[in-house]
Amino acid sequence: MLPYADNHIHSSLCGHAIGSPEDYVKQALKTGLQEIGFSDHAPMVHKPMPHVTMSLKELPLYQAMIEDVQKQYATQISIKIALEADFMPGYENKTEAMTNSYPYDYIIGSVHFIDDWAFDDPAHREYWKNYNVDDVFRKYYALLRQSAQSGLYQIIGHCDLPKKFGARPSLDLSHEIKETARVFKDSGVAIEINTSGLRKPIAEIYPDLNSLKIYHDFGVPLVFGSDAHDPNDVGRDFETAVKWALSAGYKEYVIFKNKKIEKVLPLL
Ligand code: ZN
Ligand code: FE
Ligand code: FE
Ligand code: ZN
Repeated sequence: MLPYADNHIHSSLCGHAIGSPEDYVKQALKTGLQEIGFSDHAPMVHKPMPHVTMSLKELPLYQAMIEDVQKQYATQISIKIALEADFMPGYENKTEAMTNSYPYDYIIGSVHFIDDWAFDDPAHREYWKNYNVDDVFRKYYALLRQSAQSGLYQIIGHCDLPKKFGARPSLDLSHEIKETARVFKDSGVAIEINTSGLRKPIAEIYPDLNSLKIYHDFGVPLVFGSDAHDPNDVGRDFETAVKWALSAGYKEYVIFKNKKIEKVLPLL
């Protein structure tokens, strides 16, 4: 069975995705999804980065655009309004103010930066040579824990993103992942199974299966996301994602509304 909802959808507003909200909604209907959640890149609060995120000035437009499709498609599909907001340590208050500017259904917390380096940005891929891969992963997991503890987020996105271009830790980091899972559980955040990794050089769902088993064993709730930056990717590889979730031991997943778990749904 296909998951009910795709929670991680972008739009052309962020500057590196294509398609209007309506294009994504139409594809969701074609795919047979019952819900789609827009979670476009929220403005950076430490410095504007218009090529990778929306600007603060665009948030009203984003809201209006999604409300439009919500009304237009009200009888056909449930549409949630959310954000994917970067975790920037030291800027929690600004992030909180920004994410409270509209009544979002959920906020996906994402770590895309280590020491101000956008480690998953193809334009900054060369800087990997300055870093030790194991250090990147360790710093990354520490930031994931900090993001969960910040209370800013309901969902933590793509939880092993540094592997995107093919990097793998040389050490067994399962103690880091267990600690992260424990913090996620204590903080009440859900983890995202994100199929976009399949479309990247690593060609693997985020997070890897061993990690997902650990999150499951600690009782961390699960959501599904395609991270579509192109309407054609809505619900992409969700059958594979369901198998991944079942192999990790998950029997159910959740959807959010008003920053609370709205429903717990069976995977089978
Ligand atoms: Zn993006
Ligand atoms: Fe992301
Ligand atoms: Fe995304
Ligand atoms: Zn993302």
